Amino acid sequence: MKRIAVLGATGSIGASTLDLIARHPDRFSAHVLAAHRNVEALVALCLRFRPAWAVIADAAFEADLRQRLAGHGLSTRVLAGSAGLTEAATLTEVDTVVAAIVGAAGLESTLAAARAGKRLLLANKEAIVMAGPLLLAALSAGGGELLPLDSEHNAVFQCLPGGRPELTTAGVRRLVLTASGGPFRGRTRTDLAAVTPAMACAHPNWSMGRKISVDSATLMNKGLEVIEAHFLFGAPAEAIDVVVHPQSIVHSLVEYLDGSVLAQLGHPDMRTAIAHALAWPGRVDAGVRRLDLVALGQLGFEAPDRATFTCLDLAYAALRAGGTAPAILNAANEEAVAAFLDGRLPFLAIAEVVAGCLDRLAAEPVRDLAGLLDSDLTARREAQRIIAAMAG
Ligand code: NAD
Ligand code: MG
Repeated sequence: MKRIAVLGATGSIGASTLDLIARHPDRFSAHVLAAHRNVEALVALCLRFRPAWAVIADAAFEADLRQRLAGHGLSTRVLAGSAGLTEAATLTEVDTVVAAIVGAAGLESTLAAARAGKRLLLANKEAIVMAGPLLLAALSAGGGELLPLDSEHNAVFQCLPGGRPELTTAGVRRLVLTASGGPFRGRTRTDLAAVTPAMACAHPNWSMGRKISVDSATLMNKGLEVIEAHFLFGAPAEAIDVVVHPQSIVHSLVEYLDGSVLAQLGHPDMRTAIAHALAWPGRVDAGVRRLDLVALGQLGFEAPDRATFTCLDLAYAALRAGGTAPAILNAANEEAVAAFLDGRLPFLAIAEVVAGCLDRLAAEPVRDLAGLLDSDLTARREAQRIIAAMAG
């Protein structure tokens, strides 16, 4: 029996993870469930999964959570705040931590799980984008293993020999990440001037949280994934390509020196990647529809429209600049996306905010967590200044 801590249990990845745990009660148990501040949703999950621990990241809701759990006669113990998240990620009885919090808020618990030598199932791509070198150091110090949940990186992992080898020794020429192109594929800048949050969140293939849905619409999601792939697999920027594949059936590919190209295919359902990582090196039924190639008929591929969706190249630029540049990119993007979702910023201005922050703030070497959090905060302040100036 593997005991799982699901950080971000009330989100989209959290729901897919819990669906798999429910399908395999003999193999996996939900030992910890953590959420931000939706007490009602967390209590409902506690009633269903009976975890040993529940964590509410916003400590203002701790008393409410305790009261409601007790009201239902549940013996689930409660932790709160960011210290509570870290404690939950490092409990000795926990084997596997599913890092499915969205944004920089997931960084510290992700690092703590890595340091504690857990099997880390990483969905929280912002954590590795911000703090790649620190996360890799924490993983090797802890002696645990990282398995990517992001579908593209999970696909690459599956197409590499023995998981995460040295790429040059393994004869890898390049990694090719697929992108659906998002809801605005084929649109011009003029078309995009007035798009709303609801339009940006209506993804054609995947059902996801609002932040990553906007990132998919700007192609920043693919940019973050290029940086994620760099840290996960040790590939330089020149060896990571992006191809648009509107059906989201091929989840990514690995090209080898001999001309072989290996791909991982499946329906766009996150349960495949999560089941792979939960059961690795075994396999379990994920409840996902089987692929019928004849019914699919054709798969399409095209180049990304880099002139319209400039966030992709901003991410490549941040990766090439190195140091804290990816953290600056991520922080600026988080602020800009939140402003867009609030109706305070037009869609096309998201890229302008990110570009402005990358221009104005110099990248520095990543030394430690404190320095990194400082860069994150500076970038957020700069982003807010640019957003306010645009509104005025
Ligand atoms: P979501 O918005 O549906 O869920 C986010 C979860 O994080 C919720 O449980 C929420 O309670 C928690 N959370 C939010 N802010 C928090 C805070 N400050 N402290 C603690 N917890 C907090 O998001 P999602 O779509 O499930 O995505 C989660 C992560 O997985 C993101 O990093 C995303 O990029 C990544 N990811 C998601 C998908 C997908 O299909 N949804 C695919 C690949 C990667
Ligand atoms: Mg992805």
